[in-house]
Amino acid sequence: MPVIGTRQSPIKITTNNSMQLAKPTDVLRIDYKDQDYHGKFIGVHPSHGNFELDKPASPETYPAVLFQGKVFELRRIHIHFQSEHVIDSDVKCDYEVHFVHACRGMTLADPKLVIGILYREGATTPAGKGLERFNDLLQQRAKAGSSLRAFNSTDKIPDGKINPLEFFPRASDGKSPDVTSWFHYEGSLTSEPFSEDVSWFVMKNESKIAPNNLKELKEYAEQEARPAYALDRRIVVRSF
Ligand SMILES: [Zn+2]
Repeated sequence: MPVIGTRQSPIKITTNNSMQLAKPTDVLRIDYKDQDYHGKFIGVHPSHGNFELDKPASPETYPAVLFQGKVFELRRIHIHFQSEHVIDSDVKCDYEVHFVHACRGMTLADPKLVIGILYREGATTPAGKGLERFNDLLQQRAKAGSSLRAFNSTDKIPDGKINPLEFFPRASDGKSPDVTSWFHYEGSLTSEPFSEDVSWFVMKNESKIAPNNLKELKEYAEQEARPAYALDRRIVVRSF
């Protein structure tokens, strides 16, 4: 059994109990470029499957954020069916996308930074089509004959392209990505080994996806969403 301490994730976030930061950009700045990045789906063992970004050829770099003066790079993306975090509610969102970052020059075995984006199925789709493109990739993979849940290195897995900014909720103009409205706390991985080495950022607003034609996405994302854990002595801060 993994050691579980007092800084577990996910949590229930309550806006009124979070502390507003005076200078949020001193804590986090999301500096992703508005461009496509190549990557591929990798195996699911021992936990959920991931879309892993290819190491960019120099001078290109991974999509990056600046966290407390250190550069963290987006290495993997995965999706949960039903959100793990909840905000001002006990009702889960339909999906939660996790952008898993490692510190530049380090691996995902080292302390991580994860950005969580809550997604809801909605008839109108003002979001940036990030999850739709992800769903297209999964459909291509299904056509290529790979099982969505488990596959090995001999399976034919199509190379994919994603633009991380397209996943973010839209700003008030309805078009540009809102990368500045977030909650932050210190927590853990939500799958084994549940290590308490994750700096979490959960976006304040939800992204939307049209509810049709999401079979592959649901199948890929199907895994137990972990229940909310107690905040204990931690503090949640917010940028807005
Ligand atoms: Zn996750």
